[in-house]
Amino acid sequence: AVIRHPAGFGGTHITQQYLMTEIQSLYQQVILDHNKNPRNFGEIDHATCSAAGHNPLCGDQINIYLTLDGDVISDIRFNGSGCAIAKSSGSIMTSILKGKTIDEAEALFGKFHHLVTADMDEEFDADDYGKLAVFAGVREFPARVKCASLAWHTLKSALEGGQIVTTE
Ligand code: ZN
Repeated sequence: AVIRHPAGFGGTHITQQYLMTEIQSLYQQVILDHNKNPRNFGEIDHATCSAAGHNPLCGDQINIYLTLDGDVISDIRFNGSGCAIAKSSGSIMTSILKGKTIDEAEALFGKFHHLVTADMDEEFDADDYGKLAVFAGVREFPARVKCASLAWHTLKSALEGGQIVTTE
């Protein structure tokens, strides 16, 4: 499969193995940065909706808080504790979704879900995924898919009325 990356590789097709190593080290830095300095970390007082999510396989616990202005997500925050992938996913997800409509958020969830569960051989164009592309490598690690997806499942639950969700 050919994997294309938008920046830094000059548009040349390099062998997959070499590129994956590069992407992994690049994306690892992004993930570690979001883990260390999570964006939108905290609670919203008087949130329009919220939900708690739990991934018992890894021990990740995430709470999502949303303020809706009509169908626009005017504010979104998260807190909790978890591994670097769960936490960075919450950080990146909240950064992406602020200002988006609920429909757009649901479409992005579909996109994210596809990204982390697609067949390994499927071509992947990082341009299509923006900030979400950092999670492309997660599909190699099935147990980690649940860590990366937890924030999104919890978001969906919050939008649907705030049940406690578990990835099991
Ligand atoms: Zn985890």
